[in-house]
Amino acid sequence: MNREPFPRLRWNLTPRTFMTESPSQLVPLDARERPGGCKEPLFGYDTAALAKMMAGQREPEWRGKQIAEAIYRQWVKEISEITTLPSLLREKLATEGWRVGRPRISQAFRSIDGTERYLVQCAPDDPLTVETVWMPEGDGSEAGEEASGNSKDWRRATICVSSQVGCAVNCQFCLTAKLGLQRNLTAGEIAGQVVEVLDRHEVGVGRDRVNLVFMGMGEPFLNYDNFMGAVGLLVREVGLSPQRMTVSTSGIVPGIERFALEPEDLRPRLAISLNAPNDRIRGEVMPINRKWSIAQVVDAVRSVPLRPRERVTFEYVLLAGVTDRAEDARELARLVRRTGLAAKVNLIAWNPGPGIDYAMPAPATVEAFHRALMGEGIAAFIRQPRGRDIFAACGQLKRTVETS
Ligand code: SAH
Ligand code: SF4
Repeated sequence: MNREPFPRLRWNLTPRTFMTESPSQLVPLDARERPGGCKEPLFGYDTAALAKMMAGQREPEWRGKQIAEAIYRQWVKEISEITTLPSLLREKLATEGWRVGRPRISQAFRSIDGTERYLVQCAPDDPLTVETVWMPEGDGSEAGEEASGNSKDWRRATICVSSQVGCAVNCQFCLTAKLGLQRNLTAGEIAGQVVEVLDRHEVGVGRDRVNLVFMGMGEPFLNYDNFMGAVGLLVREVGLSPQRMTVSTSGIVPGIERFALEPEDLRPRLAISLNAPNDRIRGEVMPINRKWSIAQVVDAVRSVPLRPRERVTFEYVLLAGVTDRAEDARELARLVRRTGLAAKVNLIAWNPGPGIDYAMPAPATVEAFHRALMGEGIAAFIRQPRGRDIFAACGQLKRTVETS
């Protein structure tokens, strides 16, 4: 395979990515270690990299733009469908071992609330799958009606995207943690989950209101380059707005500091998984707090510039008897006030999972906690669990089929 077209690229930290002159233009390069071997995915290369690749094929650079248009805007799945390319060139690319290589939904589970959880396969013979969740709103299912099954019967939706297979962070309440970290996803594999779901639901980019939350499996800031590479592809190639994207981190301080330096036109909104009102409790439920304390996380968050009216979200998982007590609400309110940040709190009642020894808070406790925060002048919201019956809710994502 011809690797000459990338002479000015330098290797980055992870073997699966390379860095162009702009730190956010990260795209997967080394697919040699992919299970199944010789097929190289085009999905993941941005227009600039595709143009260089075309130049290396002694083709005009604008052919790269045509490929990018086809895979990121028209969502073609096969090289043979890129009809803007001459058929000889399509054949040549295929013979050389290239393929579009977008991840594929291999299984879908549908909840009574309309939520769908997908197992997404990154390469045809890769046994590892990641999980992606589609949460339609306004399809009538919130009112207790059965969702119609019509894929366009929604007005806005949220896609929850994974950034790693498994997670290394080991939060005690999270099912994904049980997997440990299996591997990082490439930029193409992260962005590919989104395009696959947009395609399935025939989303009109720029027409339908679709939000992305990087809150699936994994810790995005421990796969920073590929995560931001994916954001670059989704913004610049697919045409989505970073203002409709939210990335959630467990508080990886070096990641937050890098994030603060990203240009506004590429920077999603930021959510911090706070989950406890003080370092003592946080250290118990999130061992990562022993590495970076709440004060260190908050300091890093202060360096992230906010757009007008933008707020940082503090996510707070309510664990019965551990983080949901009246004194926790008061302490949390004080903590949030002291940060001086433009912030809001999203309350998430803990979603249960096998082998995790916490209890769900009573609905009345969740409401009391919410009222207490509001009473203290904190903007707080209760996040309704979605797709609990198919294990699609927060923290329930764990490459399983048996939970369907
Ligand atoms: N790793 C990132 C993003 C994925 S987790 C992070 O931790 O922020 C997304 C959110 O789900 C986090 O706020 C996390 O605290 C929450 N979460 C994890 N397990 C949960 C569970 N069992 N019930 C409810 N929320 C959970
Ligand atoms: Fe990883 Fe987030 Fe789960 Fe913690 S809550 S183990 S950081 S996925």
